[in-house]
Amino acid sequence: MNLFRHARFYTTVNHLKDLPATSAEIAFVGRSNAGKSSAINTLTNHTRLAYVSKTPGRTQHINFFELINGGFMVDLPGYGYAQVPEAIRRHWVTLLGDYLQTRKQLIGLILIMDARHPLKELDKQMLDFFAVTRRPVHILLSKADKLSKNDQIKTLSSVKKALQPYIARQQVTVQLFSSLKKQGIDEVNQIATDWFTRQTNLITDAEKPDQRTTD
Ligand code: GDP
Repeated sequence: MNLFRHARFYTTVNHLKDLPATSAEIAFVGRSNAGKSSAINTLTNHTRLAYVSKTPGRTQHINFFELINGGFMVDLPGYGYAQVPEAIRRHWVTLLGDYLQTRKQLIGLILIMDARHPLKELDKQMLDFFAVTRRPVHILLSKADKLSKNDQIKTLSSVKKALQPYIARQQVTVQLFSSLKKQGIDEVNQIATDWFTRQTNLITDAEKPDQRTTD
């Protein structure tokens, strides 16, 4: 099943109190210009889906898209903008930080990093920050087409090496991705599908004792 195909725009949120009721969701995050919108458009096979997140006034908001399995894909505001007024930056840090650390329905994070400049300081901070939730992070090394095959392999290997402690705890997975070449779509689709399946199993397991007592 292609999880991301036929995703539909659901809602835009600017305050935590407005977060919609969902069963489970996966979020996309990354430095501005890392290729997040292109990745979302490529995965959903939609040329303008993530465009909504780029319209003026919405770039710092959280955008929800509904998936065909009933789960949600969440487009988080990009970080690392060069010139953002302090008040907006502070609002963004609070909104994003609170969402990432308190959102119970968030079952995994897809972190997009430009394959030519991976693991920038803010990316590392994001990984450390999210690690406390003990939920998985899947990294897309984007724009892989801008590297030679050899450099793609080298980059993948060096990022994995740098993140070895996380990888050993099965908290982080990494792959190459290119929106331009449509490279890596199956891999991210599989990871996200596994996250949703695991979540469904957890819910089913949690329900089992109750079912027994009512038998
Ligand atoms: P965002 O700010 O993270 O949403 O980044 P965008 O998706 O808007 O991409 C930033 C720039 O990188 C744009 O000029 C895109 O055309 C370009 N870009 C994104 N993905 C790819 C890719 O896979 N290959 C190449 N060559 N360029 C890409």
